[in-house]
Amino acid sequence: MENREGSRTTLIIPCSGIDKVHGLIGREATYMVTDDLASEKTATLCLALLVKGDADAVASVQSHTCITVDGCAKACAQKNVELAGGRVAKAIQVAEAFRDFRGAKPGTATALTDEGWTITREIAKNIVCETALLHEQEGAAL
Ligand code: SF4
Repeated sequence: MENREGSRTTLIIPCSGIDKVHGLIGREATYMVTDDLASEKTATLCLALLVKGDADAVASVQSHTCITVDGCAKACAQKNVELAGGRVAKAIQVAEAFRDFRGAKPGTATALTDEGWTITREIAKNIVCETALLHEQEGAAL
């Protein structure tokens, strides 16, 4: 767990995706949210811990609302959170965000271009909006 974890913290969980620019964008967008844009409301968690069945990671996804950020339609983060018994309130796919940036040159698996950072910021803003919506809904349900 990379952040303060309160009962109303939303977990933002990116896929590993280390060989694709989509994976890098998903991770950077997640850090933008958990480190800066919504640091008081969100935290992140290492997907590999879930995949290997780490008890603390499994308990975290079962007790918090989760937003997954996957590089592509294989949806590794979403599937593994669900396999661990977690509730994915919103599943975001980086590849879908590219539809609004046709022809963009986002960079490589290890370095983003200016266009890549623009896409990353858009995804981060989307995650912040989804988090705010979830907190509103959870607040209304209390
Ligand atoms: S969702 Fe796609 S990019 Fe992410 S780890 Fe799975 S295969 Fe790789």
